[in-house]
This record gives sequence, C-alpha cells and structure tokens, in this order.
Amino acid sequence: MPNSNNTNLLLVRIGEIILKGLNRGNFVRQMIRNIRFRINDLGDFDIHEHNSRVWVRALSDDIDMKEVIERVTDVFGIVSVSPVQELPLDYEELKHATLNYVGDLLAKNTKSYTFKLETRRVNKSFPMGSYEISADLGAILLEAYPERLKVDVHQPDFIVQVEIRDSIYLFHRTIPGPSGLPSGMSGKGMLLISGGIDSPVAGYMMASRGMRLEAIYFHTFPYTGPEALKKVEDLTRIVSRYAGSILFHQVDFTEAMLALVDACPEDMLTVVMRRLMFLVAEKLARSQNAKCLITGESLGQVASQTMEAIVATDAVTTMPVFRPLIGIDKNDTVEIARRIGTYDTSILPYDDCCTVFVSKHPKTHPSLLDVEIAEEELDLEALADAVLDKIDTYPIKAYT
Ligand code: ATP
Ligand code: MG
Repeated sequence: MPNSNNTNLLLVRIGEIILKGLNRGNFVRQMIRNIRFRINDLGDFDIHEHNSRVWVRALSDDIDMKEVIERVTDVFGIVSVSPVQELPLDYEELKHATLNYVGDLLAKNTKSYTFKLETRRVNKSFPMGSYEISADLGAILLEAYPERLKVDVHQPDFIVQVEIRDSIYLFHRTIPGPSGLPSGMSGKGMLLISGGIDSPVAGYMMASRGMRLEAIYFHTFPYTGPEALKKVEDLTRIVSRYAGSILFHQVDFTEAMLALVDACPEDMLTVVMRRLMFLVAEKLARSQNAKCLITGESLGQVASQTMEAIVATDAVTTMPVFRPLIGIDKNDTVEIARRIGTYDTSILPYDDCCTVFVSKHPKTHPSLLDVEIAEEELDLEALADAVLDKIDTYPIKAYT
C-alpha cells in the first residue's frame, strides 16, 4: 500500500464498548492528557473531542507527523488512528481533493495498484448518496490514472475512504492502537521492576488497564553494577512510552542483602529476600498512595515462583499484589516484550540482585513455618525501615 500523510489532522477512534461502563467525560479527558504528554515536545497541537472521536490537529506545518502518529498509536484507550484530510461539505472540492490525494500516493513510485472507494454518509443532509459518491469518485480516479489503478472490491491494495459528517474526511490508512483504558483511570500501582523480561511487561499490562505506575528497583551495588541500574532505567523509560511518566525509586539494598546472607539458611535466602523486598515496596507504596504492588511473577517459572513460595512471600504484606503474568506462558510474555520494545534491553547480560544472591538449592516448597524459622534471627520490619531511608527517587519519562 502506498504510504503518505501530507495531512496535519489525526482522527482517533476510542473504545466505544468501554465507554458505556465508565465515566465517559473522565475517560476522554484523561486520554487527551495522555496524548498531549506524548507529543508535547513535537510542537503545538489542538486536541479535542468531537463526534465521539478525538481529533489531534498540528498547528504548524513543520511538525513531524510520522513521529506524531507513532507516538499517538501507543496511547491506551485508542482503537485506531487515521491521518485525514478535512474538506468542506462540497462535492466539487471532494473530487478535486480525491484526485490530488491519490495522485500524491501514486507519485511515490511507479507501481500499479488495485483500490476501492468507500463512502460513509453520516450527515444525511448531504445531497448525494454514498453509493453514488463512491461510484463517481472511483470512475474519476480510473480515468485520471488508467495505467496505474484498477478496482478490486474484495482485496484492494488500498481503500480510499470518504466520511461525510459536518465536514468531509478523506483518508486511506487506519493504524491500530493498543485499546485498553487511558492510564490514570484506575489508580496507582507500585511496580517491582528488575532487569528481566517479565516485570516491564507486567507494568505495561497494568498500565493498559488504566493504572498509573511508580517503580521500585532494588540495587545491590557493587554486586550489581551501574550497567544493571541503567538497564532498569532504560526499561522503565520504554514502559513510560505507554504508561506516562513513572516515578522511579532506586533502593540501596546491599546492606540489607548482606544481613540476610548472614542470618538466613542458604536454601531459604531467596524467599526471605523476596519477603523483605515486598515489605519495603509495600511501605513505600503506602507513603506514595499506591494501592497495590505489581510483579512479573509467573506460576512455576522458577523456584521462587512455586505456589508455596508465592504464598510465603504474600504473607508478609496486606496490600494486594497484582501478577498479570501469573498464568501466561513465557513465550507469550516474550512476544509482548518484543512488541512493546523492551525485549532487546531485557536480554542484555547484566545481572540483577536476584541472580547474584540466588540460593544454589532453594527450598521450592517453603511452608510458613520454614519462613518463621529462617527469619528467627532477623527483624524484617526494622530492616525494611532502614532500607526506606536509602531510596533515591526521580521521575523517568520517555518524552519531555
Ligand atoms: P523478571 O524477568 O521480571 O526479572 P524473573 O522471571 O527473573 O522476573 P524473579 O527474578 O524471581 O523472576 O523476580 C520475580 C519478580 O520480582 C520480578 O518480575 C520483579 O517484579 C521482582 N523483582 C525481582 N528482582 C527485583 C529487583 N532487583 N528489584 C525490584 N523488583 C525485583
Ligand atoms: Mg529477574
């Protein structure tokens, strides 16, 4: 399909089924805020709702619309986006514009294409019927470009679409968006993010249901190096393309970790470490008004993710822990990671603390009694409070 967008206007379609169940005004306002956040640095825009759609209009000609489209199509809640030309309700103008529009597409190369013309006449006061318009415009195009165009109504290379509303809209591309709910509609969660494949995907999935994110990363310098931290920051930045700005909490976890290594039986180290992480994350979440923790755990994936290990970890908190990947196969998680752009960063070889301090032979089915015994010489609460004093907090965002 020829690809061109010499247009400064985007038609953004929003999920209509979702709209019925939720407060529609809030939904649209939040979505507009999120769109604005993503394209603000690219120039001046008018963004507003009209006719159940959101319209994004670039206010100057020097704006990189390709980049605008790329960013807007990442915004949750959007079903699809079409770059459109807007015309007055005048058939002569429509004919003229259609010829130019398709002429521009064909000027990109010398290939021949099959096409189809589709008209939707929402505005019933327009004097011509949709079938009549399609047939006439189709004939005009065939006559103008007999060598280059053929009609194929079943599988055309491209479809010229005409929508007649209070203006006429002309377009040929419809780019799918991620659907879901606009981030910011469903409260805030604290994402435990590591350098792995899973936790960035988990954050993405909760953001797709409208959740705003903060992220906490437990850093064990010098056992984990500056590259490991940078990797997690980079992952957070990629997730923020979709989730909006993410407040990032970098925790100096080394001293606490060494205390655990000292006091804990080796086979229980992983589960106790995870309990301490959850405890710190929960305390931080409460102080930040986040209502849940989010992790990338998937049942049975590793020794610390057996049913018993998860139960033992959960017992340390009263806050709900959301695990959107719990029933997801690793292959499917990898596929999402590739699609959202985190995969290549996730597979960089820098260890996070879990791989450095992992038990050699972890107890795979720890009971709560095992945990109690393992923590006999430890004051987890006091350790967590000490860790809370060693947090460096800063926002991470993909766009300025
Ligand atoms: P991931 O691919 O997300 O690293 P994983 O399969 O390696 O997950 P674990 O290392 O057991 O599994 O970690 C399980 C979850 O615990 C992670 O998905 C993440 O949410 C959290 N987590 C692990 N390590 C850290 C860390 N250093 N800082 C913050 N959270 C962490
Ligand atoms: Mg990991």
